[in-house]
Amino acid sequence: MENWIYRPEPAGSREAAPPAPERTVPRYGRFPCPCCGYLTFPAPKEEAVAFVCPVCFWENDVFTPDADQPSDENRGITLNQGREAFRRLGAVRKDLVRYVRKPLPEEIP
Ligand SMILES: [Zn+2]
Repeated sequence: MENWIYRPEPAGSREAAPPAPERTVPRYGRFPCPCCGYLTFPAPKEEAVAFVCPVCFWENDVFTPDADQPSDENRGITLNQGREAFRRLGAVRKDLVRYVRKPLPEEIP
């Protein structure tokens, strides 16, 4: 369950070759958010337990696979309602709009 958490590389492993900025691999944000679709997830949605998407603020709910089933993690809204709210408001709930951020260039699929 911890395998999606970012772990720093061992000290010294990269000293020989400092990464060029344009080749830097994003540390997380390689899997699509089930709600907004941007590549914000550090792991597939089946594994990213309770990860909150920074772009739409959907909290990943691994226990509610059905997009029309109310999600406890998201105060009872369904994934489809979250998607609709994100399209309309820019976040899954109106009170969360102020917390979201724009997707980074590398998060745009
Ligand atoms: Zn999202």
